[in-house]
Formats: sequence, C-alpha cells, structure tokens
Amino acid sequence: MPQSLRMRTKCQGLEAQVSVLQRSAAELVGVLDAHRAAIEEFQKARASCEESRVQIWCLGLIRQNAAREETVAVSQTMEYLQLRNGDLERELYATRQKVGELQTAGQGGHARNGSDSDAWIQSLKMKLKCAVCAEGNKSVCITKCGHLFCRSCVQRNLAARNRKCPTCHKPFGENDVMEVFF
Ligand SMILES: [Zn+2]
Ligand SMILES: [Zn+2]
Repeated sequence: MPQSLRMRTKCQGLEAQVSVLQRSAAELVGVLDAHRAAIEEFQKARASCEESRVQIWCLGLIRQNAAREETVAVSQTMEYLQLRNGDLERELYATRQKVGELQTAGQGGHARNGSDSDAWIQSLKMKLKCAVCAEGNKSVCITKCGHLFCRSCVQRNLAARNRKCPTCHKPFGENDVMEVFF
C-alpha cells in the first residue's frame, strides 16, 4: 500500500472517531442541560418551600399575638365586670338599708301597707262601735265604770230596768249616763 493511501485511510478513521466524539459531546451537552434544568427546578422548589415556611412561621406569630391580645381583652373585661359587680353589691346593700329604714319609719307612723293597714283600720272601727249591738257608734258613757255604748242600747237597758253595765255588770242609774263626743 502506498504511503498516501495509508495516510488517507488513517485520516478517514480519525474523521470517523471525531464524528463519534462530536455526537458524544452533543449528547453530553444535552445531559448537562437536563441537569442544569433539574438543578434550577430544585432551587425554585427550595425557594418556594422556604417562602412557605416563613409564611407558616409568620402565621404562627400572628396567631400567638392574636391569642395574647384576646387574653388581655378578656382579662380587662373580667376586671371591669368584677368592679361593676362590687359597685352593684354596694348599691344593693345601700338600697336594702334604705328599705329597712323606710319600713321602720312607716311602722312608727302607722303608715303600714296592705293587709296590715286593713287590719289596723278594722280594729279602730271595732273600737268605735257599740259592744252590745255592734252597729251603733259609741255615744254614751256609763260614768260609774267608764264603758261606752250607743244611746239606744243604754236606753233599752234602762227601760228594761236591767240596770247593769253590759260589759262589767256594775249597776248604774239614769243619772250615771253621760253623752260623749269624739
Ligand atoms: Zn248598741
Ligand atoms: Zn262597765
């Protein structure tokens, strides 16, 4: 084989090797690009994850703060309510005392109310009525004993000659009768 032919053959072999190497290099570039893209994707994901973590942390802080503020507000409200309760209790105590005073004053001045005052008026009416007939007003006094009756009952007593006081049975005469005026 002449030298030029050998050289050409060698050259052709080298060219083939170069083209193989070029294909390999192109493939490697593709793989490298894919790796770069993967790395970029991963970094993006990591950044977004970091962001989420920061957001979660912030939310936690906000929640804690809100809870603290709420606690403060609730304890302030409690404090206010306790103060108000104390005020109301003092007011109630003072009012009860006033009611007690008014009741005592009312009883002293006979300013009773309800059934109490009804009973009292009834007893006064009874005192004014004649003990014998319970109808006529007391208008005559038997001076021997001081008992009071209505005029018609005393007159009936005198007419029947049963001259004894209906209450104490002390004898009395026409001259022992005296008219009284309220
Ligand atoms: Zn009478
Ligand atoms: Zn009498």
